[in-house]
This record gives sequence, C-alpha cells and structure tokens, in this order.
Amino acid sequence: MIKTTTTLRSRTFRSSTFRSTPELIAHKRGGGELTPKEIEHLIAGFVKGDVADYQMSALAMAIFFRGMSPKEIVALTRAMQDSGRTVDLSSVPGIKVDKHSTGGVGDKVSLCLAPLVAACGVPVPMISGRGLGHTGGTLDKLEAIEGFGVTMPIAKFTKQVRDIGCALIGQTADLAPADKRLYALRDVTATVESIPLITASILSKKLAAGIDGLVLDVKVGRGAFMKTKKDAAALASSLVRVGRLAKKDVTAFLTSMEAPLGRAIGNALETREAIEILMGQGPEDLHELTLVLGAEMLRLGKVAKNEREGRAKLERAIADGSGLATFAAIVKAQGGDARVVSEPDRLPKAPIVQVVKAQKSGFVTHMDALELGLSAVTMGAGRTRADQAVDFRVGIVLSKQVGDAVKKGEPLLELHLAAKSDGALEKRVLKAIEVGSRRRKPPALVLDVIRR
Ligand code: URA
Repeated sequence: MIKTTTTLRSRTFRSSTFRSTPELIAHKRGGGELTPKEIEHLIAGFVKGDVADYQMSALAMAIFFRGMSPKEIVALTRAMQDSGRTVDLSSVPGIKVDKHSTGGVGDKVSLCLAPLVAACGVPVPMISGRGLGHTGGTLDKLEAIEGFGVTMPIAKFTKQVRDIGCALIGQTADLAPADKRLYALRDVTATVESIPLITASILSKKLAAGIDGLVLDVKVGRGAFMKTKKDAAALASSLVRVGRLAKKDVTAFLTSMEAPLGRAIGNALETREAIEILMGQGPEDLHELTLVLGAEMLRLGKVAKNEREGRAKLERAIADGSGLATFAAIVKAQGGDARVVSEPDRLPKAPIVQVVKAQKSGFVTHMDALELGLSAVTMGAGRTRADQAVDFRVGIVLSKQVGDAVKKGEPLLELHLAAKSDGALEKRVLKAIEVGSRRRKPPALVLDVIRR
C-alpha cells in the first residue's frame, strides 16, 4: 500500500508558479499530473545536473507506481527527444522507417530485416541497443563481426543511409541523452517495467533519429519483459498513441516470446542465423517474423500497397541476393569484415561444442525462453553487470523446436562453450525443455497488431 501524508498530497500543490523538484516528485507520488512545462523543466534540469540522480530515481519510482496520463507521456517523450541533437534526414529521399523490438531471446530479426527492407527501397536509419538482462541486443550481435563499428558521427550516419539505404548504430551520447541517463538509473532502481517510462524511452531516441515511420515488435511471454498479453497490449497502445501524436506512422505487433526465436541464442551464432535468412535458409519462424515486420515497413514506406505485395518484394530480395548484398555493403561501410556475409564460417567460434541429448522420446512441448536466455548469459553471451564484455563465440543452438518429435538419445541442443561445463548447465537447459507424449502446435507467432 502506498502511504501519502496529508501535507504532501497532490492537492496541496495548486500554485501556478514553478514548484521545486521535491514538490514535483511529491506531486507525482501523490498521484497528481505534471504539466508539460514541469516535465520539460525536470528533464532539462536532469541533463544539466540541477536535478540529481537520486531525485530522478525517486521521480521514476513515483511514475512507476502512479503512472502518467497520455498528455504527460507525450511531454516526457518530447522533453527527452529534445534533450540532445535531432538528426535531420531530409536530405535522404524516401520515407524513413525503423523497427524496434522490446527484447527477446534469439531475436536477431533486425540483422536480416534492415538490409532486406533497404534493398526494397525503404531507407532504414536504425538505432539499436545492447543485450539487457536475459535478452540479446543487436549491437552485440553486429560486433561479433570483426571490425564492425556501431558508433559514427551523425553526418556519416546520414550519408550511409542515403548511399546504402541503411546504417545500424547505437544511441550516441548526444542523441536523447536524457533517456540514456534515465535508463541507466532505471536499470538499477527496479523501474524498467513502467509503460510510460518505456514509451518515452523508446520513442524519444527513435524520434530523435529522424524517422517518419516505426514498426514495433512488442514481445509477450516468459522470455519477454511483458509477461502477459494484456500488459503488452497496453504498452503497444501507448507507443502507437504517442507516436501518432508526434505525427509518425507507427504500427505495433504483439509477438510470442514463450520459446526462443529461431534456433540460435548467442551473438556470433545469431549473426550467422540472420545471414542464413538472407541466403534463403534458416528457421521458418525467424523467416516468417522477418516477412511480417518487413512487409509492414514497406507499407509504411509506401513501396508496397499491402502485406502481400510487401512479402513478395522481400522474398524477391532474398532470392536475388540483393538483401545479402546490402548487408555486405553495410558491414563494409561500418568497418567490418564483409567476407563473413558469404562465408559465415569466418565468425568467431567457441572451442567446445557439447551436445545435450533427449532423456526420453516424445514431442517438444515447451522451451522456456527465459531459462535458456539466462543460461546463455551464464555462459558469457550476455552481461550481469553493465561494464562486462560479452563472449561473442558462446551460446546455444537448438536442434529441436516446439512441436518437433524427438527420440531418446537424439540431440536436443548444442552448448557452444568457452570452457568445459560442470554439468549444472546441462541440467538447467534440460529442465528448460519439456518433452511430452502428445504433439503440441507451436504457439502463434503474431498475437495481435495495433495500428491506432
Ligand atoms: N527498451 C528501451 O529502449 N527502453 C526501455 O525503457 C525498455 C526497453
């Protein structure tokens, strides 16, 4: 229960003059609404150092419990977007469309999606993140390619989007710096899972990057930050509403993250799988999600009239190799070894590959994405502290997916390890995979789509 003393209740602050930071925190803590000017003032003060980290953390916790009105979320998004530079992509012809996933296990879609969409004629200025908790991040996967640089000056970013159709970079220090600093505080103050804060965080940096349209992949399930469809739908609606108020075309898909996406979990292994999709190979679920999200990007970018036309264009870009060629051009432009695109064997490899075998015959009925993601983190594929380096080589490759038949003694998965495991890891991954006597259909990949 939240305790609110009489003196600090929101209704005691009705003055039209600016309130102090402690008063504004107390106002929100009491369930009051902050004005756009107050939000602007707080964010500007935070970036300048006038509002201390501990005050911003307290405000984040007040928002976590009390929520924000749509008007407040719009104001927070704008204030964070305007806390640094805004990229001007008006010199790049076409409608610029990005995609953002709220994070999952085995989610390497951006790596194959961005070059495919660019090859179909829609410029993709993509700002990506690193792995967070048990979920992987696009930047870590790209850095598995030797030499690949994920930072560049804004002028080079703009030029690359104009010349190649796509650049894949991380948030720079001057792009929505308020989000970068607030996110770091939220990460260590248990205030990540707040719909207003997630909405403002994602949209502020995307809007600052100069996009016209955005496709969101809001993950739902065990391996996602949003565990229920209801929470994911609320986040998706908030993102779409605020995006539209900012005059951007935004579509949100709710997609399943009960089981890992595709077969590979871990940086170099996932980069390889994304390259396989561009080669016309790779797992069906990853291929399907790439087409679903890509077709919507092509629709928002006005190069496809509908999903069917979008899917056909993307399939063509896979079949004629133009998606793969675009990825090679991006890798080369960003300093990476572009040979990996045609020779994925050049990606870093773990010295030990240990096969984990099924303990009984039956059908794979469940694969726990959270447990498999956490297992990959313990192997070194992710971080348990922000300053840790990841081991690009390590991870898990699933030999089976949900719905597959399996015989006792057959491989269930491979552990790609830096050093021999002590057996605990094998036990943990075996526990994460359920083998039952009756075949179960894999869960639907796309659960819903929200356009307004
Ligand atoms: N991703 C973001 O960029 N921000 C959040 O708050 C959560 C996920």
